[in-house]
Amino acid sequence: MKAHDGIYLDGAWRPALSGEVIDVVDPVDEQVIARVPAAGAEDVDAAVRAARAALPGWAATAPAERAARLSALRDALAARKDEIAETVTAELGAPLAFSQAVHAAVPIAVAGSYADLAARHAFEEKVGNSTVFHEPVGVVAAITPWNYPLHQVVAKVAPALAAGCTVVLKPAEDTPLVAQLFAEAVHDAGVPAGVFNLVTGLGPVAGQALAEHPGVDLVSFTGSTAVGRTIAATAGAAVKKVALELGGKSANVILRSADLAKAVNVGVANVMSNSGQTCSAWTRMLVHRDQYDEAVELARTAAAKYGDRIGPLVNAKQQARVRGYIEKGVAEGARLVAGGAEPPRERGYFVSPTVFADVTPEMTIAQEEIFGPVLSVLRYEDEEDALRIANGTVYGLAGAVWAGDEAEAVAFARRMDTGQVDINGGRFNPLAPFGGYKQSGVGRELGAHGLAEYLQTKSLQF
Ligand code: NAD
Repeated sequence: MKAHDGIYLDGAWRPALSGEVIDVVDPVDEQVIARVPAAGAEDVDAAVRAARAALPGWAATAPAERAARLSALRDALAARKDEIAETVTAELGAPLAFSQAVHAAVPIAVAGSYADLAARHAFEEKVGNSTVFHEPVGVVAAITPWNYPLHQVVAKVAPALAAGCTVVLKPAEDTPLVAQLFAEAVHDAGVPAGVFNLVTGLGPVAGQALAEHPGVDLVSFTGSTAVGRTIAATAGAAVKKVALELGGKSANVILRSADLAKAVNVGVANVMSNSGQTCSAWTRMLVHRDQYDEAVELARTAAAKYGDRIGPLVNAKQQARVRGYIEKGVAEGARLVAGGAEPPRERGYFVSPTVFADVTPEMTIAQEEIFGPVLSVLRYEDEEDALRIANGTVYGLAGAVWAGDEAEAVAFARRMDTGQVDINGGRFNPLAPFGGYKQSGVGRELGAHGLAEYLQTKSLQF
C-alpha cells in the first residue's frame, strides 16, 4: 500500500530524525504491506514545537473560519470514503462492507458534527455581571488505538480543532496508514501549518515522549487501562489535563418482558462486529434463569452463522491473548457452546466466534476485557441480582437493556453504573456523549460534551 516515509510536521511531510521504521502487516495474510517511520523523542519534540508555535494564530481564528476548515475536512474525507475503507481493511483486517459502513462512514459523520458545533457553539456567554469565555486548552497530544482507527482520531482531532487547540497525533502502530490519509485530508482542507501534526511511532517511545512532553497541555488517550493509568500518573505529576477512554466489560441485560430472540441476536451481532475489538461491546449477556437455556441456544445458533465472515484480530499478540482467555474460561468451568481457542486457518490472526454458557460473575472471562469475538452468557435470579451482576466489574463504559416496556428498561438503565446504555437496541448517535464511569475512563467524547473537553473557561466581572 501507498505510505508516506515521513511524519507530517508543520504542514509538510518530513523525514523522521530517528531513522527507524514500523512494518504494517495485513492481519488476513500476515504480509507486510507498508513501512512508516517510527518516530523518536526528537521528532515528537519538533512536532510539539510546531503545534505550540501555531497555537496563538489558530486560537485567535474566528469560530466560523474553524468551522469552515472542519467542513472542508469532512468533505475531503467523504471524497475518499472508498479509499478509507480499503485502507482500514488492509491494516486492521475488517471485512470491506464493515469498513465502509462503520470505519469510513462514522468518522465522516463525526467530522461533520464538529463543523456544525464549531459554527454554533457559544464560545462566549453572559452570566449575571460576568462574561465567560470558553478558550482552547492549548496543545493537545492525541494517542489513539487501532480498533476504530479513523473514528478515534476524528473523535479527538475534530473537537480539538473546533475548540481552537493545536494537535500532535500519535496513532496506533498497527494502523498508521489511515492516520496518514487523515493528515492528507487535513492538509487538503486548508488547515494552517502546525495546527495538526502526525507522528507515527511506537507507544513506549513516541507515545510516552508525547505524553510526558512539557509543551503539551492536554493528553487525550484511548486504549488499555494499563497504559491509561501510566499516562494519568505522568499527567497528574505535571498537573496536565487528561482525558481517558479505556476498557469496558459491558452488560447486555435482557429483562423477562423483552423480545428474547431479538435481544439475543442483536446482542451476539454487537459482540462479533469488528471481531469483538470494541471497547463498548456488550460482552456479558444477562438472562433470567427461566429463559436461560433458550437464550443460550439462540446465541449458539447466531454465533455459528457468523463463521468465517468476521475478520481476523489485529495482530498475533491479540490473537494469543484472546485464545488465552478462551482457555481460561474452559479451565474455570464455563461451558463452551460455540467457537473455541483453535484457530480455523493456517494464515491470519483469526479467532472463531465464541460463546460461553454457565459463566458466573466472578470468572475471569466475566471480569476482564477480552477484546475478541467472545460472548459470556450469565444467569440472573431477579432484577436486583441482574443489577448486582451488571454493576459488578471495575468497568462502566456502555451497556444495553431490553424490556417489553421502554419505561421498565429506562428505570433499570438509570441504576446502571455506566456511561452509555442502548434501550431495546438503540441507534448510534454521533452527538451523544461517550465515555466511562469507574475505571472505563475520565471525560467524554463526541458532541458538545466532547468539545467541552478541549475548552477552559475564563470569566470577566463587570
Ligand atoms: P495500548 O494501550 O497499548 O495502545 C493504545 C495507544 O497507546 C497506541 O497508540 C500505543 O502506541 C500507545 N501507547 C502504548 N504504550 C504507551 C505508553 N507507555 N505511553 C504512551 N502511549 C502508549 O493498547 P493495545 O496494546 O493496542 O491493546 C491492548 C488492550 O487494550 C486491548 O486488548 C484492549 O483490552 C484495550 N484496548 C482498548 C481500547 C478502547 O477503545 N478502549 C482500544 C484498544 C485497546
